[in-house]
Amino acid sequence: MKAGIHPAYEPVNVVCACGSTFQTRSTHKGDLRVEICASCHPFFTGRQKLIDTEGRVDRFQKKFAKAREIQAQKKAATDAKASRKVQ
Ligand SMILES: [Zn+2]
Repeated sequence: MKAGIHPAYEPVNVVCACGSTFQTRSTHKGDLRVEICASCHPFFTGRQKLIDTEGRVDRFQKKFAKAREIQAQKKAATDAKASRKVQ
């Protein structure tokens, strides 16, 4: 190898959200944090499961609940208007 033109290719630790870790080599500096790996991906485990890494599904459902609440409020307001017109 020619000196001075290659990036440092050091061993790095890969840390998955499922808790498993393994070592590899990379030009990346510091540890790698991944959300899915071979020991937790359904393709490799062979079982179907909801992949909820770091509470993303939970966060999405919270966001969605808020939108539903707003819709319900709007509907209540229009219903109230409609009932007033009838009288
Ligand atoms: Zn994993």
